[in-house]
Amino acid sequence: MTGPLGRPGPIVLLAVLAPAAIVTVLGYVSLRQWARSSELLFREQARDMASMTADKIGMMLRVTDDELLARLQATLVDGHVTVEAFQAAAPLVDRVYLFDRRGTARYPTTAHADDTIAAGLRTGPAQELWERGGRRELVIGDHVVLAAIVKSASGEPVLAALSRSREGLRRQVFEGTFAALDRATLWEVLDEAGRPVYQRAPLSDADLVASVPFREGLPGWRLALYQSRDASPEKAVRRQVAYLTAALGVLLVVIVAGIVATYRLVRREMEMARLKSDFVANVSHDLKTPLSVVRMYGETLDMGRVTDEAKRREYYRVITRESERLSRLIDNVLDFSRIDSGRRRYELAPTAVEPLVRETVEAFAYPLAQAGFKVDVEIAPDLPLVSLDAEAVRQALANLIDNALKYSAERRLLQVGARLAGGELALDVADRGIGIPASEHDKIFEKFYRVGRSETQGRRGSGVGLALVRHVADAHGGRVTVESRVGEGSRFTIWLPVAPKGERPSRAS
Ligand code: ADP
Repeated sequence: MTGPLGRPGPIVLLAVLAPAAIVTVLGYVSLRQWARSSELLFREQARDMASMTADKIGMMLRVTDDELLARLQATLVDGHVTVEAFQAAAPLVDRVYLFDRRGTARYPTTAHADDTIAAGLRTGPAQELWERGGRRELVIGDHVVLAAIVKSASGEPVLAALSRSREGLRRQVFEGTFAALDRATLWEVLDEAGRPVYQRAPLSDADLVASVPFREGLPGWRLALYQSRDASPEKAVRRQVAYLTAALGVLLVVIVAGIVATYRLVRREMEMARLKSDFVANVSHDLKTPLSVVRMYGETLDMGRVTDEAKRREYYRVITRESERLSRLIDNVLDFSRIDSGRRRYELAPTAVEPLVRETVEAFAYPLAQAGFKVDVEIAPDLPLVSLDAEAVRQALANLIDNALKYSAERRLLQVGARLAGGELALDVADRGIGIPASEHDKIFEKFYRVGRSETQGRRGSGVGLALVRHVADAHGGRVTVESRVGEGSRFTIWLPVAPKGERPSRAS
């Protein structure tokens, strides 16, 4: 981005990139933090919800346990209802055991020898109930057993144990509880060995979010909460992060584009300001030189010092030439200012081309001869009348001839031609001068533009001549082209449509 105005490129680049990098890094860091904390928050909420649900189930079990034990006690005391009937009416109970203090099974009386529950009840924590009373949930083998001391019909204490039915829990407790909860959340109940007892839905497409133990009723069991992968917190957060990152990206692009556009605009404006100030300096210089020549020669003549008639005529010619140059320059500047403000009007009228071209070249006869130019004018014989603004075209040609004069070195040849080509009138002005590098061919037609200082150094000019030529060509519905090579010379051609606009014959090329 290094421009012609020193080296603002790296500074501007830094001014754009440094804030952009800071915004990106800060944005990224805060996004990451936000993602982490919102995920944490989500997990905490999920854990709270799971704990609350587990507690609710525990409380339900305690209430049912109270009922069951009361009913069992009533069954034993009354004797009207059998233990079998009690069990049949209790879907949450898998098996019932009754032992007396000596460890004799009161129910079932025909226990299997390999009954792990019966064996577990005769030893271990269940036995502590004889001393302490109350009730207790125990894990025996892969069963959860509710054990408590009740009284038999004779008032004798009996150790009663009710093993929980997995099927009963599933049907009576879990299904009812979880059906009432939010559908997006998937629940799983795991037994003490981590085997699933209940799943609300298949969990193949879900992520574990939280897992909590049951504090009551189901020792060793856990309640796990899953979120389907689409609705998982990671996914939601990731989606949000993607949106925010995209927004940040767009913001950055807009900032960078804005700064680059501003930079270009400022650079263009600065370049224009520089060109304008050069223009003022060049024009002032251009005005001063012929004026001082005119004045000097005028004063010399006025003092009557020049007695030689030939010399006097020479002086008059110099004065005429310099004042012509002055007029041309002033015309150019005035015209240019009219063009710039959009006030320049062109009066088109059918015009004979040959006299126009010859008269224009003729006006330069003296300076051309003085500079030692060989002049070659070639006008095609059968040129029609062409609709054009004679004054404007004359001025454009004069500018091209003036340039050929200014930008020639040792080989001094001026070729001016008028011909028809592809239905257009082509006015050529060619020289064997210093030439123009190909990279400058477009720019030389811009206002105030002058090719690199060294090339034009010492050659006076304002940089508006070719801009004017192009404007004149455009105004006639034509164009101007240049062929030029450095050191070999240049050929400028003004192309003007022969027929008025709209009826123009199509070009052959
Ligand atoms: P200037 O007043 O500087 O001559 P112009 O608009 O007429 O302005 O030309 C723009 C630039 O194009 C010139 O400064 C010069 O560098 C280059 N140029 C124009 N005509 C010629 C030419 N015949 N040969 C070489 N360079 C030319």
